[in-house]
Amino acid sequence: MTKASEVVFSEEPHFFNDVCQYVDQAAKYSNHDAGLLHQIKACNSIYHFQFPIRRGNSFEIIHGWRVEHSHHMSPTKGGIRYSEIVNEDEVMALAALMTYKCAIVNVPFGGAKGGIKINPKNYTIAELENITRRYTVELIKKNFIGPGIDVPAPDYGTGEREMAWIADTYLTMNPGSLDALGCVTGKPIALHGIAGRREATGRGVAYAVRECVSVAEDMKALGLSAGLDGKRVIIQGLGNVGYHTAKFLIEFGATIVGFCEFEGAIYSKEGFDLDEVFNHRKETGSILGFSKSQKDFTDSAEGLEQECDILVPAALENQITEKNVGRIKAKIIAEGANGPTTPQAAATFIENGGIIIPDMYANAGGVTVSYFEWLKNLSHVAFGRMGRRYDENSNINIMNLIESTTGATLTPAQRSLVSKGASELELVNSGLEDTMVRSYHEIRELKHKKNIDSLRTAAFVAAIDKIAISYMNMGIWP
Ligand code: GLU
Repeated sequence: MTKASEVVFSEEPHFFNDVCQYVDQAAKYSNHDAGLLHQIKACNSIYHFQFPIRRGNSFEIIHGWRVEHSHHMSPTKGGIRYSEIVNEDEVMALAALMTYKCAIVNVPFGGAKGGIKINPKNYTIAELENITRRYTVELIKKNFIGPGIDVPAPDYGTGEREMAWIADTYLTMNPGSLDALGCVTGKPIALHGIAGRREATGRGVAYAVRECVSVAEDMKALGLSAGLDGKRVIIQGLGNVGYHTAKFLIEFGATIVGFCEFEGAIYSKEGFDLDEVFNHRKETGSILGFSKSQKDFTDSAEGLEQECDILVPAALENQITEKNVGRIKAKIIAEGANGPTTPQAAATFIENGGIIIPDMYANAGGVTVSYFEWLKNLSHVAFGRMGRRYDENSNINIMNLIESTTGATLTPAQRSLVSKGASELELVNSGLEDTMVRSYHEIRELKHKKNIDSLRTAAFVAAIDKIAISYMNMGIWP
């Protein structure tokens, strides 16, 4: 089989093209029809639109996208990002990654992604609300949103506030629809969101890292001990994903020795207290100048290259490239962001003996809990609510309901949580943990069984096999 070093990548890498090349690479380990593979890779629907907003006495044109990558499952699902660098290629790539991500963790959605090309910091809250609501109306007009059609969620630059505006706009335009609240996930809990969604992506990344370092044989090959205790971690990005990854990794025994942000990076061999760093940045507007930092770097990229065992890029794509991969000291890269490592850099890192926990698996915790939120919205009941109100026998019914709607089999620990009347948060976290643990071993075992070069390729092999089965079962109509 092809080794990482033999993988041929295009001269001019583009994000969507990179994702397609990963699929091609993975396809060598299966035996799918070429036409079917083509269908799997392609973006089914790409919608680029523009609309004006009023700013003072003038108008500004806003560019928006929504891409539905694959309809092998419905609805399609994926976040909406607000960023100045949003472009069609990026949205297509991220939509495609959502398809493979959902397949990896057995979340029954096709992939989608949306984007608005703005820097939210340059707009007032009222302007952001206008932009978000207008974007939603544009999606409604073209049937690009709905609980059974396409379900957005937060992503880079968006959060609960934007999801609430989207939900309210959709509800207003669909009066009386019982399922309307399932049109978007990542909503505030008070607006039918779900406990644990905000921290889900970071919690999932931490579970992924914990699972990876728990395999003694793999750690031995890296010259590391098994387990998270004392592992030194550098985190890039103190946003929702980076912050929560750090929080849970510390909880699981790791030490965060470095943080990198736009303005620079800080490092301390002794490790940082997450909230002290977070509050310092909030108060001063910069990560730099934190009193307990032993080294400050005004060039943020230098922060990635410091001594550590695990590097978690949790910001944007293209952070680890051919230019800096040789200077990365970490043995494990856990991709909290989507596409933070270029294919060339990833191939080099793996060839040098490192492990990459790939984005499409590592950051799948967000969409996993989004799935729970969507189920909650469609079933109109909070998880655990009936569990607390009814007796042991009624709980059996709830367990059966959960098993039949999610297709999962509850573990004895989960059954006992349900039967003692666990809270929504306990159920969500246990479902998330179970998903991340199971999926890691599915990917790792496939890698070993088929002698695959990397966890990423193995994840793509597992994903495309599942998507291919769906397409084959659906047939073609007309
Ligand atoms: N934006 C997140 C992601 O990239 C979450 C998507 C979702 O919850 O639908 O996975």
